[in-house]
Amino acid sequence: RMPLVAICGRPNVGKSTLFNRLTESRRSIVGDEPGITRDRIYGEVEWSGRTVRLVDTGGVIPDDEALIPSEIFRQAQVALEEADAIIMVVDGRTELASPDRELARLLLRSGGKKPLFLAVNKADSAEMFAQAENFRQLGFKNVQPISAEHGNGIGDLLDEVWAAL
Ligand code: GDP
Ligand code: MG
Repeated sequence: RMPLVAICGRPNVGKSTLFNRLTESRRSIVGDEPGITRDRIYGEVEWSGRTVRLVDTGGVIPDDEALIPSEIFRQAQVALEEADAIIMVVDGRTELASPDRELARLLLRSGGKKPLFLAVNKADSAEMFAQAENFRQLGFKNVQPISAEHGNGIGDLLDEVWAAL
């Protein structure tokens, strides 16, 4: 069957922007719409001659801050069960938040042999690209700075993920 890659992370880090860039579609809503995004959240990505299914787990995370931690973790549990690889996204322009640390801990502890990748997003400049190294403290072996908006680093991220599938 086609491999499935899940995109995880707290709200506003750029999961949907990444998903939309990769699937070249509008299947997942970007922005600050209140409530739950009910649009389709599965897409397909073709890269290096191989097509992979992608899921934006944030598509079903409500915006309500109070519900965020439990929903992020529930989504991560589902991803750990169903996905063949997981890309955790953080916002490279802000300090790490506690949900980032807790999510990273959950994925690294429960991931087993599942390939895990950290995408440090919003690295729109060379300077930001270099700063992504700071996020190695989360414990991921695979750390890739990207700009989901501008495309920087995306090809390298896909090369790494595809090689692990
Ligand atoms: P999600 O909640 O994780 O799905 O995040 P979204 O994809 O909705 O993005 C949240 C905000 O971050 C939006 O305003 C995006 O335009 C912005 N954003 C996403 N990727 C980038 C990026 O690479 N660079 C910059 N500067 N902003 C980005
Ligand atoms: Mg989203």
